[in-house]
Amino acid sequence: MSRDPRHDILFEPIKIGPVTARNRFYQVPHCTGMGYLRPQMLAEMRARKAEGGWAVVCTEYNSIHPTSDDLPHPSAALWSDSDIRAHALMTEKVHEHGALAGAELWYGGARTANLMTREVPMDLASLPNAVGHPYQTRAMDKTDIRNLRRWHRNAALRARSAGFDIVYVYATHTYLLANFLDPRINTRSDEYGGCLENRVRLVRELIEETKEAVGDRCAVAVRFAADEEIGADGVPIHGERRDMFAMLAELPDLWDINIADYSLEMGVSRFVKEGALEPYMSFVKAQTSKPVVTVGRFTSPDTMVSQIRRGLVDFIGAARPSIADPFLPKKIEEGRLEDIRECIGCNVCYAGDSLSVPIRCTQNPTMGEEWRKGWHPERINPRRSDKSVLVVGAGPAGLEAARALGQRGYRVTLAEATRNLGGRLPREAALPGMSEYIRVRDHRQQAFHKMPNVEIFLESRLSAQDVLGFGADHVAIATGAHWRKERFDGRTYVSIAAAGTAPEILTADDIMDGRLPSGPSLVYDEDGYYMGGVIAERLKAAGLEVTLCTPAEVVSEWAGKTSERWRVRSHLMRLGIRLELSQALTSFDGVRATLTCQFSGAQKALPVASVVMVTQRRPDDALYHELLATVGGDAARLPFTLKRIGDCEAPAIVAAATYAGHRYARELEETVDIDEPLKHDRLDVGWIEASTTSSATAKPGYLETLLRYFEEEIEGEAYFAAIAERMNSAGQREKMNLLSQVETCTADAMRPLIRKYGLTARSVEALHANGRAQAARAQSDWVALIDEMNRTFPKYIEDSSGLKPWPRRKISRRSRWQPRMR
Ligand code: ADP
Ligand code: SF4
Repeated sequence: MSRDPRHDILFEPIKIGPVTARNRFYQVPHCTGMGYLRPQMLAEMRARKAEGGWAVVCTEYNSIHPTSDDLPHPSAALWSDSDIRAHALMTEKVHEHGALAGAELWYGGARTANLMTREVPMDLASLPNAVGHPYQTRAMDKTDIRNLRRWHRNAALRARSAGFDIVYVYATHTYLLANFLDPRINTRSDEYGGCLENRVRLVRELIEETKEAVGDRCAVAVRFAADEEIGADGVPIHGERRDMFAMLAELPDLWDINIADYSLEMGVSRFVKEGALEPYMSFVKAQTSKPVVTVGRFTSPDTMVSQIRRGLVDFIGAARPSIADPFLPKKIEEGRLEDIRECIGCNVCYAGDSLSVPIRCTQNPTMGEEWRKGWHPERINPRRSDKSVLVVGAGPAGLEAARALGQRGYRVTLAEATRNLGGRLPREAALPGMSEYIRVRDHRQQAFHKMPNVEIFLESRLSAQDVLGFGADHVAIATGAHWRKERFDGRTYVSIAAAGTAPEILTADDIMDGRLPSGPSLVYDEDGYYMGGVIAERLKAAGLEVTLCTPAEVVSEWAGKTSERWRVRSHLMRLGIRLELSQALTSFDGVRATLTCQFSGAQKALPVASVVMVTQRRPDDALYHELLATVGGDAARLPFTLKRIGDCEAPAIVAAATYAGHRYARELEETVDIDEPLKHDRLDVGWIEASTTSSATAKPGYLETLLRYFEEEIEGEAYFAAIAERMNSAGQREKMNLLSQVETCTADAMRPLIRKYGLTARSVEALHANGRAQAARAQSDWVALIDEMNRTFPKYIEDSSGLKPWPRRKISRRSRWQPRMR
């Protein structure tokens, strides 16, 4: 397939100061929950985006000094030369795939309390901590400002030493530099406060100093907000921003434009749709000749083209679309639009940073697992055998399991009880604001069109006997979960029905089934994520009087992790939904709900006709247990392997279900060491620190040989992988794939040397193309191929046979069918 000529414009190279981006796809800085704590995971994750066609791949923000420390939210850091090596891991991998690497330099000011470093935080004045820590800032004096400028310059130099091509001055998002620009916050009376020129001074100095320090080789980008204050969505309050922008317009090499309201800029799809920043961008391009980038959760290439043609931006900026689909640019380039895994705007990716854990994504289960599990967003290990798999239940877990198993080449049967694919997805997507969640189903459904090896049966509710009679070699139970009618009192699930009454108590499932309460309703939310608010909104839209009650102190508490809680609450208030916080629903008799204060224990009565419970979910695991019961609970006696996945194993968010499905598919018939299931990224005290000044020397001829061997290993990984694809038998494929892995490991082992001597290898893409071309010329007959390899590399094959994984337990034919014959 070739790309639609209408999208050609997206693939034009664009110059950014001294560097050139190969196309217009620009992954803007975004947090990952990894930062300086997990550099290997980070490097591999960013590498996948470069491989997927992004022309620019940026870091999350890089703290320039320990007085700007954001832990427990992990940031990157450029505090000392020892940080260079960690960043070089990323830049090298990004460069290997022909992309530019960008580093965002950051100073947090009043947003950081420096809880880890215990340094006194600094801002332009003595300010309260912006995120509620009881730590105020020290007002920066002239010496502090001089120090800050030096730290910024040093960090820029380290960024250059680490191989970055773009270095940012970060002047938005209410961090220190944004405060200097803000007329309401900056009340300084020196040359850094007061008039516009004075408030812009520090940002100007940093741009100039960064250019002077690294501008010979690196482009300097500035992140800047186009509006001054948060107004109504889509109605910018520009204030003096245009004038400010005009003063700086030609100084940097690139403008990365944001807006004041982060909850709109990074809004969840429930409230914010694609391209929401457009009204804010109107003046930007007209005032600068430098390239401009902004975000907008762009997933449609037509929208992207329109943004460029209408002169709003030069680059298509993305954080979330690049997370949901690191190969978005490649798919557009190759005209494979139907393969795009569109972001659903749930912000679960952002929750990683909020929770200090590595990023994860609802749509892309490989996100964050590139290094520690070796998962690639597009490629997957081929099947190990010709065995068949039955997946029961087509919710997100079952769909993803079937899709990934299909991609591995297994014969898959997906059985679904209802007439729709998607399980909880179509039901939830029909609720107010939730429509984009259906993309999780649509992407998988679309993938099945290209998979003749995946058979789907709708309206097929399988019993244990059906499963036993089906004759699959492997069975995955993905039968989901249902909302409970009870609440959890801290120890156990309890009914809220008052003794001797049978009041109307519904669940979120009843509402999704189309059943509505008969009168004024109480929605009781112990779940704490989006569902309580969404159900309340649904009832309100049906004309009912609604109260939302929760034992938590805030509405939709967990939605704070996804940065949507504030919008949820104001939205519910605007709709006229009454809120009862810190109240447990302890009893309901059909006319009165009894609410118990979580602090005082005081009770109050609320007159309502109906209660809708959004508490916990009960796993629908009966089928799993019935199957086990046929063999007295001993799964090994079943004629197939049996596994439950997703909500039927343990109810959780949709991202956990797609992950569970993907993991099942990846690990089927693979050897998994349950004692050490994943690699552990942490500070390795065995590392040798890099230095900005060290320059390694070597004997003549050594470096050429080193580089040649290194490139040959990279060619070799593609060579053997390509041969593996051609082989007919699973054993032959396995052997060739193992050899490919040997080449990968060898290249990885050589990387520190390549780095040490500052060698630059040809791009991975070019080397892989060579490898594949050589594979095309290799013998196609297995025996002839091995003969040829043995002649060229005596003993190579025999030596590698020791790498074969442990054989899986073999199930004899007799024991397979025993349970059925009883
Ligand atoms: P998850 O989030 O774990 O994927 P869902 O609740 O979204 O779970 O989806 C589970 C799916 O399993 C639902 O579509 C449901 O209709 C289906 N299902 C439940 N029991 C059976 C069964 N016995 N046979 C086939 N499908 C089933
Ligand atoms: Fe998009 Fe959700 Fe994935 Fe984030 S987690 S990239 S918002 S689909």
